[in-house]
Amino acid sequence: MSFAPVLRDLPGRLSPAVREFQRLMEPEVDLEKLASRAQRLTRQYFGRTMRLFAPLYLSNECVNICQYCGFSRNNPILRLTLTVDQVEAEARHLAAEGFRSVLLVAGEHPKFVSGTYLAECVRRLRRFLPSVALEVGPLEVGDYEPLVAAGAEGLVVYQETYDPALYAELHTAGPKKDFWWRLDCAERAYRAGFRRIGIGALFGLGPWRGEALALAAHVDYLMRRCWRASVTVSMPRLRPAAGEFQPRAMLSDRDFTRLVCALRVAFPQVGIVLSTRESERIRDGLAGLGVTMMSAGSATEPGGYTGAGRDGLHRTERGKAVPVIVSEGEFATEQFEISDERSAAEVAERLRQLGLDPVWKDWDAGLGGKGC
Ligand code: SF4
Repeated sequence: MSFAPVLRDLPGRLSPAVREFQRLMEPEVDLEKLASRAQRLTRQYFGRTMRLFAPLYLSNECVNICQYCGFSRNNPILRLTLTVDQVEAEARHLAAEGFRSVLLVAGEHPKFVSGTYLAECVRRLRRFLPSVALEVGPLEVGDYEPLVAAGAEGLVVYQETYDPALYAELHTAGPKKDFWWRLDCAERAYRAGFRRIGIGALFGLGPWRGEALALAAHVDYLMRRCWRASVTVSMPRLRPAAGEFQPRAMLSDRDFTRLVCALRVAFPQVGIVLSTRESERIRDGLAGLGVTMMSAGSATEPGGYTGAGRDGLHRTERGKAVPVIVSEGEFATEQFEISDERSAAEVAERLRQLGLDPVWKDWDAGLGGKGC
């Protein structure tokens, strides 16, 4: 079972939900009416709740070359992998801010970020956090299982672009080059027992309508095949990062709003995630319309919340750490610049002003299961 044949066939036979999504993306469909339908459905299926989470970067080491990413292997950035104790220090800081749900993020570098290390991080954090999810390099089912056993409940993997030719152009070295291996990652995660599967596309790489249609088809496929897990979807737009990659395709704020609303109407039960890549204005505007999960007060570098690990900063050359002299106030390099710089408390307060109920944990014991 795989999404690959469905993707290869696009825009061939579409399910009713994907056809509806495609129709709603047309500019002739009135955006204001679409937005109020989306808002009604969000209320109906999710109430007024907005789940808050924080990304916690473990490492910015990476063996891949992804043209658009600050952590790309050839970027001469300051790198760092936190020790498990340092990860705990970062997580305790987030817990003190109110977070009960964290997403552990790492570049792909098996030498620095091994399965054993990831399992230990999850185990340690689960002692005081009810919800720990992962966004790390794709693994086999058998490598995911110990992470689920350690207590990880969610797995997030973005396809970046659903166009195999563009994907090949943008991913020129490292295991991430394999488009089809990545594409099946969500299903492998489901088979391993993750209770929440997050997918997404990075907007700014390819023409957005084609990416959106493929993303919607992927959501549709996973919701039907992996029905015991909850599915979430993200639509990150490119942000400035080391390497200075320039977006190749624009997605305007208006079209972005249409995308969020069309997803909500076509897939009323899907969780929609919005990160601090987006501005305060966009996040506040979309909060009631379709978005159900938000990161807040985010740092996108390891040690970004507490300064943990600063003494281990280095550059990495051919897989080896090369020590550097670090000046006062220098930290590990971030993956990308965030746009919404409000603290978590400020975001929560604004959500309350908007009539929403910020919820700090993302955990539901009723959702679970194993096997596609
Ligand atoms: S997108 Fe992920 S895999 Fe690619 S360079 Fe960045 S951290 Fe590495």
